[in-house]
Amino acid sequence: MVKRLFLIMIVIFCILGGCYSCAGSEGREETFILCEGLDVETTGFIIDSGQPGPVVYIVGGIHGNEPAGIAAASAFSEYALKKGRVIVLPRANIEAVKAGERSVYWLGDLNRAFPGKERGLEVQELAYEIFTHIADQKPDIVLDLHESRQRDPMKNYALGNSIIFSHPEALEPVMDSVDFLNRHRGNLTPFVYQIDSIPGTLNQSVTEILDIPVITLETDVEAAFESRVKDQKSFLDFMISEWCSFFPSD
Ligand SMILES: [Zn+2]
Repeated sequence: MVKRLFLIMIVIFCILGGCYSCAGSEGREETFILCEGLDVETTGFIIDSGQPGPVVYIVGGIHGNEPAGIAAASAFSEYALKKGRVIVLPRANIEAVKAGERSVYWLGDLNRAFPGKERGLEVQELAYEIFTHIADQKPDIVLDLHESRQRDPMKNYALGNSIIFSHPEALEPVMDSVDFLNRHRGNLTPFVYQIDSIPGTLNQSVTEILDIPVITLETDVEAAFESRVKDQKSFLDFMISEWCSFFPSD
């Protein structure tokens, strides 16, 4: 009974006193624009608690046919932070998002174009602006939201329900988030973790060039949409809370 009461108190503390609170608290929000004036112009927002704490950069919509990550990133504005700062780019490849496709034919795959080029093809310029914005914001971690076909070890494009990283500092939060997402999963496919090894991805470029850990979440695009959005939101909630715990407020 005492143990149960203790658990209830922890849950109440996490809801009321954790890193999040419902919108309307002291969090400040501002917007930013990348690739202004180009077809690929896209906007993001920054939620700044005004308090010291972790800086987290969330990217959704690098691929336009992976809507659960876009929905979860967009919904992040429903929260305000108690400490730290969160930068959210929910529709990184806006043309692909509008088309509902991985990308559009004239642009090419954004997730093979990093770190991009200041002057080059439009996809390279978009990659460059995202990469440069991440460098300028100096996040402690980048969360990169994707979806993929149901996981199949024989097919390297089928990564559903994987959490992918390549920076050694990401190992612990990745293992913890896999454990967290796999609790109470019932018949749903469990998450596993994998190492990113594809050149040109946001994950590998930011990890190798900027030395910033990136964690890529791939939910299973063949599962129900609501369930995938729930996984994406749970991942974000867990990661923000986990990182907050490394940065106690003074
Ligand atoms: Zn993707």
